[in-house]
Amino acid sequence: MKFVMKVKRQGQPDDSAWTEPYEINGVRNRQAAERWANETLTRFNSSLRKGEAARELVGLEVIGDDGIDSRPQHTWEKSNAMTLIKAGRTYDEYRCKVCGVTGKQFQLDSGIVRDTKYRSRIYARCDTALEHITKLGIAAMIRTKRKRDAEKKAKGQ
Ligand SMILES: [Zn+2]
Repeated sequence: MKFVMKVKRQGQPDDSAWTEPYEINGVRNRQAAERWANETLTRFNSSLRKGEAARELVGLEVIGDDGIDSRPQHTWEKSNAMTLIKAGRTYDEYRCKVCGVTGKQFQLDSGIVRDTKYRSRIYARCDTALEHITKLGIAAMIRTKRKRDAEKKAKGQ
């Protein structure tokens, strides 16, 4: 099942939270997803390394049971409270609450332009963006785990 975890650093305000999309086999409902999320964070928090801060679950959104699974359009949410100004132009920042892609809107009547790091065509649609980001997230998790395992092994644990 696909779901999105909203996570923040412990002790930080909720609006500092970021989203992490996951697709986990064996997790089949919201309850299971919440249990998985809490277990994952507990595991993360109990093996913090120097410079890493403990994390806390702010919210969780299941993707699929309300049909937003293969939604091609991003679900933009404005992320700044007040309009921002850069080089004399006013703009608003947006974040897709499903996949986490960010963008800016420079004029009210113009569309939202994806930020440079999400400029690739794979991020144009929410469904393909989510799929791609999930893969990147899982790959990063596996890399971190392998690194930690290798470190443990080196220490002879
Ligand atoms: Zn999206």
